[in-house]
Amino acid sequence: MSSSSKIRQVRRLCHQLCFASCVEEKRQGRHVELLRLRPHWSVLKREEQVAIIDRGAAIPFDISLPLPARDEREGSDSGVRLFWEHFNCQQCGRCCYTPGAGLYLEKEDFERIARHVGKKRLKSLCRYDKGLHAWVLRQPCPFYDKDRKGCSIYEIRPLTCAKYPLHPPLNEMPYHLAVDAFCPAARELAKESLGWWIICENNWAAILRKLSPD
Ligand code: SF4
Ligand code: SF4
Repeated sequence: MSSSSKIRQVRRLCHQLCFASCVEEKRQGRHVELLRLRPHWSVLKREEQVAIIDRGAAIPFDISLPLPARDEREGSDSGVRLFWEHFNCQQCGRCCYTPGAGLYLEKEDFERIARHVGKKRLKSLCRYDKGLHAWVLRQPCPFYDKDRKGCSIYEIRPLTCAKYPLHPPLNEMPYHLAVDAFCPAARELAKESLGWWIICENNWAAILRKLSPD
């Protein structure tokens, strides 16, 4: 087996075997003890990783976090829960008022918001995307209240907004949560949780040793 497919297998096994314990270890700060025991903690220096993360302010990309992505198993949302415990939205509104391609509305989103603001008004704030067969909310978002610095339909906001800045996991890290690097609070959390990777690496190394005892 090639080393890259071995690593892929190890990551998958790690996700299956230790998603709950690794989240708890991260919550308890076990990485601090591990960092003390290791002469280095990553191939890249911390400042280099921070500089890469900070590029997200100008260049769109997603950052993988050392937290397991939720799957169909009961209790597998522990990584998502720890993410929300640590995520501290800065209320900057960048995700709402930045011009962009627009915000796709699920059918349920459209119906829920239309019940609140009226179908005619909602349609006037959207465009219909024939390719997607869906209504797309204009950006900057018409529901962002600049004076109050917040969403005027917060309780019934679209699902995408409620999940933001969480994005679908990256192809290279399919078992980890991914966040939009454009969000300053997501970038801060990515920096804070850099040390958490050492817990993943530690678990990966242990599984690798079991797979190849030599
Ligand atoms: S971009 Fe991030 S920090 Fe800013 S309002 Fe949106 S979620 Fe909050
Ligand atoms: S619906 Fe609300 S949370 Fe979503 S982009 Fe618009 S203002 Fe922001």
